[in-house]
Amino acid sequence: MVQIAELYPSLQGEGRLAGTPSVFVRTSGCNLRCTWCDTPFTSWEPTGTNRTVGELVDEILNHKLKHVVITGGEPLLAADIHVLCDILQQEGQHITIETAATVIPTEGPPAANLMSLSPKLRSSTPSAETGWEQRHEKRRRRDDIIQLLRATPNQIKFVIDSPSDLDEAVSWLHDLEIHPQSKQARHVYLMPQGVTQSRLLEEAIWLESACKKLGFQLCQRHHITWFGNTRGT
Ligand code: SF4
Repeated sequence: MVQIAELYPSLQGEGRLAGTPSVFVRTSGCNLRCTWCDTPFTSWEPTGTNRTVGELVDEILNHKLKHVVITGGEPLLAADIHVLCDILQQEGQHITIETAATVIPTEGPPAANLMSLSPKLRSSTPSAETGWEQRHEKRRRRDDIIQLLRATPNQIKFVIDSPSDLDEAVSWLHDLEIHPQSKQARHVYLMPQGVTQSRLLEEAIWLESACKKLGFQLCQRHHITWFGNTRGT
């Protein structure tokens, strides 16, 4: 069984497959509590229904799209993620897994065509009053897991809210031996933090020049432009 918050067809809004028609499968439940989480219904107040792998596969294939994006929440917490990915791969689906890369199933990384890794910077940590500050801070950085997941074709996406976020991301990438203007730098995406088009455009101005300087990609959140900050899109 997998707890699912929502399942819907849409266009991928972020990263190297932006614009690709895809079925989104959003698992519920997360081991982190980002202060700006844009899907609090999968983390702060998780909701969803338990679905069997068979039901999910049928519904995904019924949409007749080649791409499926398994996202969350944290999809690598889902008990049946390996079984689901194995069947989808046998069915010829292109699988993207979107993960914060802080947990890994005991069997190792599930089958996927693209691991979209989104490590969380210090600014994601919530305040002490939430009761989650220490747990989040202790869990949010797992370089060993990032490196394991990088064995699959991947992209690394950082949510950037300030110049100090950018400094932290560059330093973290250095520890992962990903250097500015290197070949691997082309798979690094810097994404402005925000859920309105005006805020994203404002932030994109300075981020764009940082991307040019460092050889990273600017990651627009196209789905906000296309659909607004709306569930099921
Ligand atoms: S890792 Fe993702 S789902 Fe979990 S709290 Fe952070 S933004 Fe929300």
